[in-house]
Amino acid sequence: MNLEFPEKIPDILQPLVRSGAMPIVRQFCALNEEAVVYPEERRDPIGDRVWMRTPGLVHRYPDRALLHVTSACAVHCRFCFRRHVFTSEKGPLPDGDLERAIEYVRSKAEIREVILSGGDPLTLPRHRLERILACLAAIPHVETLRIHTRAPVVAPALLSQKLLAALTLVEKPIWMVLHVNSHLELTEPARTAIASLRRAGIPLLSQSVLLAGVNASLPDLLDLFRGLLREGVKPYYLHYPDLVENTHHFRIPLEDAIELVGQLRARLPGTAIPQFVVDIPGGYGKVPVPGPNVRQVQDSEWEFRSPLSGEWIRVKYPPCTSAGSSD
Ligand SMILES: *Cc1c(COP(=O)(O)O)cnc(C)c1O
Repeated sequence: MNLEFPEKIPDILQPLVRSGAMPIVRQFCALNEEAVVYPEERRDPIGDRVWMRTPGLVHRYPDRALLHVTSACAVHCRFCFRRHVFTSEKGPLPDGDLERAIEYVRSKAEIREVILSGGDPLTLPRHRLERILACLAAIPHVETLRIHTRAPVVAPALLSQKLLAALTLVEKPIWMVLHVNSHLELTEPARTAIASLRRAGIPLLSQSVLLAGVNASLPDLLDLFRGLLREGVKPYYLHYPDLVENTHHFRIPLEDAIELVGQLRARLPGTAIPQFVVDIPGGYGKVPVPGPNVRQVQDSEWEFRSPLSGEWIRVKYPPCTSAGSSD
């Protein structure tokens, strides 16, 4: 068993784990399948390292920069694409690195948005998070901020009144993107936390990963996206699982995924339909699938056209289970 990435399951999910709910068990419990590694899989699947400009600062698209404000998270997701990147660096980005990152953003006038990611930004001490947001908001060319977080569903207690008040005081708009993969994660405390964000006026989006045995079936996706919309969250992205080592059991064939996602259009309002994307392995950017920039070359081999460079990138996927299978 790969304990390089130990299990970390927050209290709120324990009852669901104990009840054996597969969409929860598979996301958070280390299963034997993890021991398998295919040569096509990588430790840094989306090329964070390629675009890292200062420690913690990833600048891949000209107008947006991603800042890893911490490598800690309230939960360890077994499919995490950063499960190998951060294992040696646990905790907040050190002060010196933070200063260099903010200085980099200040020096690049083309950066209009800074995305706080990690790890989970909401696990930072509140004062540290407030200070980071205030520093970034004070940079004239930074127009919007974004926080990518799993806290509302895995650690809703982190959404304290003080934190909400602090978020509403920031000078620039903050968009929040919640990571949720199963409607089972929308527990009552999670829904309360989401409602408090909504009442604080923070626009809420979600991102999910299409995961075999978790949500890779039509009923599960409908439950998930309807559930999010009901809480006032607009589904934003649905990601095909990244080619990260030890995660083959989460992928279904991409052609099956395209077929499945295509079935949402007739069954959900547009407001509940996320964009299905592949983050091209190697750091070439995200591409919507299906679309003009995606083509299947042969069985489990695809080409994606980088939105950044225009090059066609060939990607071979290892063997995987079929759609709808739960193991
Ligand atoms: C996904 C990602 C972004 C944000 O992309 P959006 O399409 O704007 O959500 C920015 N930087 C990096 C490095 C990313 O991986």
